[in-house]
Amino acid sequence: MPFFFLLISFAFLFFSSPAEAKKLKVVTTLSDFASLATTIGGERVEAESLARGYQDPHFVEPKPSFILKLHEADLLIVAGLELEIGYLPPLLDQARNEKIRPTGAGYLDASVGCEILEKPTAAVTRAMGDVHPYGNPHFWLDPQNGRVVARAIAAKLAALDPAGRDVFQKNLATFESRLAEAEKRWQEKLGPSAGTKVVTYHASWPNFAKYFKLDVVGFLEPKPGIPPTPQHKLEIINLMLAQKVPLILMEVYFDRKDPDFVAGKTGAQVVMMPPSVGGDPAAKDYISLFDFNVDRIAAALAKKK
Ligand SMILES: [Zn+2]
Repeated sequence: MPFFFLLISFAFLFFSSPAEAKKLKVVTTLSDFASLATTIGGERVEAESLARGYQDPHFVEPKPSFILKLHEADLLIVAGLELEIGYLPPLLDQARNEKIRPTGAGYLDASVGCEILEKPTAAVTRAMGDVHPYGNPHFWLDPQNGRVVARAIAAKLAALDPAGRDVFQKNLATFESRLAEAEKRWQEKLGPSAGTKVVTYHASWPNFAKYFKLDVVGFLEPKPGIPPTPQHKLEIINLMLAQKVPLILMEVYFDRKDPDFVAGKTGAQVVMMPPSVGGDPAAKDYISLFDFNVDRIAAALAKKK
């Protein structure tokens, strides 16, 4: 079948001959993973996130353009732990790209190998209104987990693009040394505030709080994903007064009304915190996301003194 062979050779030429290799198309659910993929992949990848950093990562509005992005992707990076359960599965069905299915070579569950907190000890039911059924999916907000994710991305990129292995390893090493430097800076700023009690809006911050030794004593949501009720707000106000809680940490995508109300009754400061890269223009990559949030907390605590 000469014609068949001709086609094969053309295809081979088309895909492999240009001096400039085709970039790996990386699609991520979270902007944080896109930032890490860009940092590690450099010129060899084109990474794009479905969710914006100022959106609630549980409730991303699916757009038709997502299907095309997923169809063309070489690699999909997800948080897993059912964070994306509300929007991703139907998009994956429509994208018809076996590579990036959970069983495919181009699929990376970033939670694997990370420290996951709040793992359930008993069976969970949706009736509880819990959006964290397999443990807390906001694990990327601990820089130690960020390091784990960066390493997993480097390994996955090398598997998909073996010629880039050295580049990925070099970029990973640069990232890890930048992160180690940044950790010193964050410790200088927040280290002295270890043990500070905080209330957070959603349970987005257990990994962040553990790393920075903040003590989360309550949430404005009565359960993850359930909006504050009047009764619950009263309970939180009483708890904050009794325990002299100075800070309410809130994700940028919620309404300030309830946090401001509770702050007004307790004298606490409301700290607006982007939980992902791009949630504020200053939080432009994984490391500056932490710089931004650390500075916000330090500034709010300084105001309280
Ligand atoms: Zn959540």
